[in-house]
Order: sequence, then C-alpha cells, then structure tokens
Amino acid sequence: MPIKHKRILLKLSGEALMGDTAYGIDRGTLQAMVADIAEIHALGVEVAVVIGGGNIFRGMALGAAGMDRATGDYMGMLATVMNSLALQDALKNVGIPARAQSALKIEQVLEPYIRPKALRYLEEGKVVIFAAGTGNPFFTTDTAAALRGAEIGAEIVLKATKVDGIYTADPKKDPNATRYSSISFDEAISKNLAVMDATAFALCRDQKLPIRVFSIVKPGALKRIVLGEDEGTLVHI
Ligand code: UDP
Repeated sequence: MPIKHKRILLKLSGEALMGDTAYGIDRGTLQAMVADIAEIHALGVEVAVVIGGGNIFRGMALGAAGMDRATGDYMGMLATVMNSLALQDALKNVGIPARAQSALKIEQVLEPYIRPKALRYLEEGKVVIFAAGTGNPFFTTDTAAALRGAEIGAEIVLKATKVDGIYTADPKKDPNATRYSSISFDEAISKNLAVMDATAFALCRDQKLPIRVFSIVKPGALKRIVLGEDEGTLVHI
C-alpha cells in the first residue's frame, strides 16, 4: 500500500503519556507510543512530534490556584521538555534516531529549535521532537503543533487523543453523541468543539494544513492513517 502522508506532525498530549496513572509518565504507555511511531518510521514516513506537558503541569491550573499565569506556563513548557527527553530516550532505546529541540534555551539539556536543522534531521530519517511548545506563555502545545507543522511543511497534523475522533457531544456524557468522520475548520470553530484550541485551528485553517484527530489507545491507528485509511476525524478546509 503506498504511503499517503510522507511527512507528518504528530501531537501527543502529556495526558496520553500517563496511561491509567494519575501523574507523570507511564513507561508501558510510552513504549506503546514508541512502537506506533516505529511502525510508521519503518515505512519511511518523516515524523516530527510535539509533546504536551499536561501530565505534569498546566499553566492554567496553576494560574487558577493563585500562581502568576506566565510563571505557571513556563513551568508547563518545562514539563514538555521532560516529556520530550523521555520520548527521545525511549525512541533511541529501540534504535530509532531521535533529536529533540527546545523552543526555550536550555542548551545543556537540549539543542535549541533551529528550523533548517530540524528539516535536515527529517530528511535524514531522524524523528524530531519539538519541546517547550512555542516558547511563549499563554499558548498551548496544540498551537505549537500547528506552528511547527506549518514550518516544516508537514502534510497533516495528527492529534493523538484518548477518544477516537471528534464527537457531536462528549461521548462520556451523551450516549447519543456521534463521531464526525470529517468536519470543516469553520464548523469546528463555530461549534466550539473542544478538541483543539481556537488558535491552533485558525493557524491550520489559514495554512491549509489538515488535522486528523485519532485514538492513541487503538493499536495500529497511526499506521492506518499514514496508509490513507479512514481513522478518527479529519478537520479540513
Ligand atoms: N505552554 C505554554 N506555551 C506553549 C505550550 C505550552 O505556555 O507554547 C504551557 C501551558 O501552561 C500548558 C503547558 O505548557 O498548559 C502544557 O502544555 P499543554 O497543556 O498544551 O499540554 P497537553 O494538554 O498537550 O498535555
């Protein structure tokens, strides 16, 4: 089967790394993610990853608890650095070359984000991990995924969640909720569908960069997507 997507931007939420635990990184879940990435890497797909930090810190939650919001956001970005290091390490453990780059300067730990270098790594078949989100407070890693996806010329942003797509309502609360197989950006934005933040949606829409929301818990979903099969929900122009 021919590959449909040659270069992708994979957005992994920090929460997805927790598995069934309440905080931090679940080793088994991380290894399962790495196995999924390994499958598409073996097909020759160029993979860039933006990883969240919600399993450790979220600026908004810290802000709500009384902390200065920007400070909380910097802590959140540092959380994504930890997750990126864990993912880089886990990929290397299975023999996949991976390079993490940070949007915040933290040079003893990670090299800084340099676009031409990232592009070269991708061409060389290395998995590139973008750490520290956009490097700015008041943004999210979803927006970082849209931004980096556009910068590296990814064909699609693949947003891995625990749910297998975008639903008309929260499927956990509403038994009549149905899954969209595709939806336009305008509809997703106007319906206020809480899968991705509006900044990320708007950026992808303007750059004509489609997004596919899919379940990371479903084995093999990532591979099926890059082979062009219908998985989850496609958000399109
Ligand atoms: N964050 C930020 N700027 C960015 C990306 C992330 O300030 O460009 C902070 C923000 O506090 C956010 C936290 O890092 O809550 C973790 O990222 P996110 O919530 O997007 O992670 P996810 O929900 O994907 O686990």
